[in-house]
Amino acid sequence: MSRQKHNPAKAIQELQFFGEFGGVNPSISDSATYTFLKAKTMLDTFEGNADGCYLYSRHTSPSNHYLSSALAKIENTESANVAASGMGAITATILQLINAREHIVASRTIYGGTYAFLKNWLPKFDIETSFVDITDLNKVEAAIKPNTKIIYTETLSNPLLEVSDIENLSKIAQKHGIKLVVDNTFTPLIFTPANMGADVVVHSLTKFINGANDTVGGVVCSSNDFINQLKDVNDGSSMLLGPVMDSLRAAQILKNLRTLPIRMIQHSKNAQYLAEHMEQDGIKVKYPGLQSHPQHKLFTKLMNPEFGYSGMITLDLKTAEMANEFMERLQNKNVGYLAVSLGFYRTLFNAPGKGTSSEIPEDERMAMGLSDGLVRMSIGLDFDIEDVYHKMKKTLEETGYFKTDLQTN
Ligand SMILES: *Cc1c(COP(=O)(O)O)cnc(C)c1O
Repeated sequence: MSRQKHNPAKAIQELQFFGEFGGVNPSISDSATYTFLKAKTMLDTFEGNADGCYLYSRHTSPSNHYLSSALAKIENTESANVAASGMGAITATILQLINAREHIVASRTIYGGTYAFLKNWLPKFDIETSFVDITDLNKVEAAIKPNTKIIYTETLSNPLLEVSDIENLSKIAQKHGIKLVVDNTFTPLIFTPANMGADVVVHSLTKFINGANDTVGGVVCSSNDFINQLKDVNDGSSMLLGPVMDSLRAAQILKNLRTLPIRMIQHSKNAQYLAEHMEQDGIKVKYPGLQSHPQHKLFTKLMNPEFGYSGMITLDLKTAEMANEFMERLQNKNVGYLAVSLGFYRTLFNAPGKGTSSEIPEDERMAMGLSDGLVRMSIGLDFDIEDVYHKMKKTLEETGYFKTDLQTN
């Protein structure tokens, strides 16, 4: 369909925003409220009938509007609305689409915070979620009930790196008249879920899109209609719950967005190099750019090919102790940081089993293959990746990895 024509990197290249004094960057709007020359225009703005007028920055600010419109272009949606965090975007989206006593079908391997929101928080309002293996389309369809309103998934899942078949999930959603919400945080530019039928695309901007780990941020990309619903002064979740991004941050993120295409290409190139060399050396590694990844073909079919297979790699060291030793040694060698989060210019690693995915009960984690020794690595923009590989392999040796039967089982 339009996947061939829409190029998200070109969309970034073509952004043209002038500052108030002809600056090459748009001016930052340093105001919470805005004046009107005529009282009537204020009223019209309240009612949503005065395009281009700003009312109050919890609704929209010029700086947030610039960033939102840039992200809408990248995701090829009519509109977008930035939020103070990824969770601010995700929770507002879900709460806008669901009512009490309705039901959600969600991938069982999603970001821990989203999982906790669906599993522990929404039941307060009698909203239940069925968690399914999202790679099994029959199981997804079988989980749909008469009161299901949302299918929720991540393009590349956190932390298991499972790939969602957005095209077919959207067909299932359409058939049942429900909305498909996709978190594209791990794969900006690589996937354009809206081109494959996703109704709403959300991101944590905290990760690859901002890329500097100096702020949290989020965005919802969707139709004009849905974004206007979110911002409605009477019943919009974004407007009323108030997870608004600060204008200064929006301006910063917009500047970082300009380098996203070259960063994604480099993250992917480095991760592909490491994954291939690890596999050749008998290290049990999971990366969607490897033929051995269960959804390698699906990823290849759905991707925008110029950006590679993303910067995320997982290694299974089986026990938490071994994972911890490996990560501490890596940090001591300055290969990267033992830290949660991802999409940073340096490599970050953590063991999500007992960390960011600890919201998921142990028996469920085991069932989905999320062992305590799983190490998730977000590969950085390193210039000398060969050197990084030698250090990683040496560290695995020192940790005793090759002495065990880890590589073979
Ligand atoms: C980090 C993350 C979130 C949450 O975003 P915040 O900016 O931390 O609120 C949501 N989804 C995914 C996939 C993430 O990695």
